[in-house]
Amino acid sequence: AVKGRRKSVAPQETNKGSKRLSCVIKPPEMQTKRGKFGEPSRPNQKFYEMIQDFRETLEIIPISSADLVEPHRICVCVRKRPLNKQEINRKEIDVVTIPGKGALLVHEPKHKVDLTKYLENQMFHFDYSFDETATNELVYKFTAKPLVQSIFDGCMATCFAYGQTGSGKTHTMGGDFTGRQQNSAKGIYALAAQDVFAYLSNRKYSNLDLSAYVSFFEIYNGKVYDLLNKKAKLRVLEDVRQQVQVVGLEEVYVTTAEEVIRMIQTGSACRTSGQTSANANSSRSHAILQIVLRRNDRASTLHGKFSLVDLAGNERGTDVSSNDRSTLVETAEINRSLLALKECIRSLGKNSDHIPFRMSTLTKVLRDSFIGEKSRTCMISMVSPGMASCEYTMNTLRYADRVKELNGNSKASG
Ligand code: ADP
Ligand code: MG
Repeated sequence: AVKGRRKSVAPQETNKGSKRLSCVIKPPEMQTKRGKFGEPSRPNQKFYEMIQDFRETLEIIPISSADLVEPHRICVCVRKRPLNKQEINRKEIDVVTIPGKGALLVHEPKHKVDLTKYLENQMFHFDYSFDETATNELVYKFTAKPLVQSIFDGCMATCFAYGQTGSGKTHTMGGDFTGRQQNSAKGIYALAAQDVFAYLSNRKYSNLDLSAYVSFFEIYNGKVYDLLNKKAKLRVLEDVRQQVQVVGLEEVYVTTAEEVIRMIQTGSACRTSGQTSANANSSRSHAILQIVLRRNDRASTLHGKFSLVDLAGNERGTDVSSNDRSTLVETAEINRSLLALKECIRSLGKNSDHIPFRMSTLTKVLRDSFIGEKSRTCMISMVSPGMASCEYTMNTLRYADRVKELNGNSKASG
């Protein structure tokens, strides 16, 4: 029944690499609008004008907080960040348009053999699409918030931030960094924590007699490090019943959102310590914040669990230029875990008995979130808007497309 609930926009179409609406450059005499779009000194001015012309033909209705939040067992959405200062200084052009209703358009600049410029406009459809004006609160409302509710109903929920380094994963999950300072209160981690405590004190759930606990850890090169315990290296064990345990992981009892925010700050600082930039290390590791609900009984029985994952940057998949062995190992591990993640979500969507969770540490530690009726997942795919990121953006969108595809008419091919 869950399967049919999803409002799937033509998965057959996305299967073939999305609809392509190529639009050929207009002959020079038609380009009378020069000057209208600012200084012509911009590199790629012609592409810029072509994209602007194309946008003028679109009806753009961005998602708003008044829109309906639909229930999804597997939800895949996309978020575009604004051009950053450096990109604006370089006068880089924005090649991504979000018309609304889950749609996203990439205007890929191309050249014909005779060097004529043209755009390949490719349309993608997701459950929701957020443009550069969307706030973390808005994104939260449609993505993680319904999952917070679900863990009170006994679900095992996961929410992933996926995308290229610099596309906004940490901004979305952990909150905005200004310099070294992180405004954690505005991230999905904190917004989820706030709602957890709101629900805990809600009459509807108080008879469940639950308590909340938090863990925060990192997976780097297939190894688990506890961010709430000075990066202690932990072992992952699987018992005969295939139950996976992270041995010795700190699970801290929490009673307020402020406590959780402090832990996020401590953990995030621990994550990046010794690094010259916030992204140097974090782009190569997955960070997982878990909010666990337990009953207040003798055994502290597990009631529900929400895992919020800031994934490693996906850009390395195509980077084979490095000769550095440790970089190659790192890259291979990241690729394996992101592939495993995609396959596990696809298996979940197919209600398959076989979940390939052993493929990576990431999927191993999240194993119980990929099985059964009580699993819920949301993937937020982040994209950078700049022309220089176009190829990475396409890779991110294709990955997200594959994760989602199984929701409609699933095909067995990988
Ligand atoms: P990632 O974690 O994917 O590598 P970050 O979250 O660190 O990327 O984002 C890179 C930079 O872009 C940061 O300076 C961040 O503040 C900024 N940024 C990302 N997303 C947004 C957004 N939606 N609005 C404004 N700034 C953003
Ligand atoms: Mg990051």
